[in-house]
Amino acid sequence: MTTPTRTLLVKIFGRDRPGLTAGLFDTLAAYRVEVIDIEQIVTRGRITLCALVTPPVGATEGELRATIHSWAGALRLEAEIISGTGDNEPRAPGRSHVTVLGHPLTADSTAGIASVITGTGGNIDRIFRLAKYPVTAVEFEVSGTATDALRTALATAAARLGVDVAVVASGLQRRAQRLVVMDVDSTLIQDEVIELFAAHAGCAAEVEEVTAAAMRGELDFEQSLHARVALLAGLEESVVDKVREEVRLTPGARTLIRTLKRLGYQVGVVSGGFTQITDDLKDRLGLDFAAANTLEIADGKLTGRITGPVVDRAGKARLLTGFAAEAGVPLAQTVAVGDGANDLDMLNAAGLGVAFNAKPLVREAAHAAVNVPFLDTVLYLLGITRDEVEAADTTG
Ligand SMILES: [Mg+2]
Repeated sequence: MTTPTRTLLVKIFGRDRPGLTAGLFDTLAAYRVEVIDIEQIVTRGRITLCALVTPPVGATEGELRATIHSWAGALRLEAEIISGTGDNEPRAPGRSHVTVLGHPLTADSTAGIASVITGTGGNIDRIFRLAKYPVTAVEFEVSGTATDALRTALATAAARLGVDVAVVASGLQRRAQRLVVMDVDSTLIQDEVIELFAAHAGCAAEVEEVTAAAMRGELDFEQSLHARVALLAGLEESVVDKVREEVRLTPGARTLIRTLKRLGYQVGVVSGGFTQITDDLKDRLGLDFAAANTLEIADGKLTGRITGPVVDRAGKARLLTGFAAEAGVPLAQTVAVGDGANDLDMLNAAGLGVAFNAKPLVREAAHAAVNVPFLDTVLYLLGITRDEVEAADTTG
């Protein structure tokens, strides 16, 4: 058995200013130590700098301690030097990223999340802030527990604590996501497009009644789609342009798409709504893929029918698979985002399925859930920080 190597942990804390890191390592350089690990963080102007180094060469540990303390004292910093052996303990297997979105993030919910992680046998190895806008997003790096078990335990706690929690497995997979496919109605946009058409046709109440019947399980998606579109028969084609103008993007939608495109992602939409709207969104937002149902138009009027195959729950999952094939991206490297029951197959088929302000049924089935009304929070689930988004906006 080899004797573990002696190491020194040097920790500095105090008011941050330029040159501190250089100053510490200049001081250590005189003792010819080898640097094994460094961690530095600045929180509200206070620096915490930790260096794990080998023992001094040609001098005693006591001499090194005295020099560090005198350097730190002159700069009014606190210094602590802890003797020990070896490197950091290797992280246990079973590694996950836990993203917590708070609006606001309270101490109470943070305590709740941390104790659930510990309760599943997990260890919190690292915590850092991803964003302070439009929500406070914090990421916990956890080891020692299975991702699925952690996700289940935290999903229950999150609802109770009033925060969103997304748990994804660590590893290269997380950095390999390359295609994001979104639902449109109540996901990419705030509206339900059929309701916008219905308002122009003067049949809002009737359309609502069909929607309610479908929610009660009396009609399936395809039946309810046909029944609702039939109510639009005779509507002037010019209404399509009006509806395009009425559509309101979800806050954060442009930021999400712009950032994903910069990162080289392909981005698409699949909708149980209509190509007359989704094709326009594709052009406006520079999307790579769009698919939806097509309203039949004849003699300048909606006929009340749709043409071509119906995009329903199974159809959405098929389209995701097709887009992935076209993009040359394995399904495991796709992200799907949606709010409705007809998004469930797509969310399950994707490598990461995100329920966006969804009904409990959808939330429970998805890999991750976001319940704040900002679409750009999806970026945080992918580990992208607000700083990175804003820096890209400045240079782009
Ligand atoms: Mg929807």
